[in-house]
Amino acid sequence: MKRGVGNAIRTVLWGICAVGWLCPGPAVMAAEITIPLADGFDFPVGKPNAEGYYRSRGLRLRPPRHMGDDWNGRAGGNSDLGAPVYAIGDGIVTLAANARGAWGNVVMTRHAYRDPSSGKVRYIDTLNGHLDRILIRLGERVKRGQLIGTIGTNSGMYPAHLHFEIRHNIRIGLHRESAPPTLEHWADPTAFIEGHRRLSRDRRPVPVPLNAYQPYPGVKGL
Ligand SMILES: [Zn+2]
Repeated sequence: MKRGVGNAIRTVLWGICAVGWLCPGPAVMAAEITIPLADGFDFPVGKPNAEGYYRSRGLRLRPPRHMGDDWNGRAGGNSDLGAPVYAIGDGIVTLAANARGAWGNVVMTRHAYRDPSSGKVRYIDTLNGHLDRILIRLGERVKRGQLIGTIGTNSGMYPAHLHFEIRHNIRIGLHRESAPPTLEHWADPTAFIEGHRRLSRDRRPVPVPLNAYQPYPGVKGL
């Protein structure tokens, strides 16, 4: 859709919304930003190959569910407390906040990439949970391997580790229950990274949808 036409449609929909008849849903109102396609994905710890780390848990879609990987330092205990967490690819920060509860400090990033099998541009979100420190800001563009935070314990709730998710569904945000536990919505993070280490990248940046998340109390996301 041409930008002018899209803006015109949005203006009309907001007009209708203003008179209280029909409020457009997030899909219609989502803003866009352009970012470069990712040229590949690395591991979020021990860059680029998770050197010095092991996965203590992986993706489990059946109860008791675990929607991503847990990364721990090989030296054990809290030896990895404060260790660097990196952006797995070029993208944009869509959430960087203390979500409290079981999450703690969370950084989410959104990435566009060209799927090698279909040739189409696709999107993923990553979620990095229980961080000790957040070292980037909401809306910031990140590069593959850029420091985004450090491994934490969620204020002593867990032994230090990185909880790391990859989602194909970029509307989930912090509402994990909002998407069915299937590989259509969630990726096995390690399998995804291993299958997408290096990707061809067009010169032209691509549009990426924003404002995709349902609101979560006290947390601003894109
Ligand atoms: Zn976990």
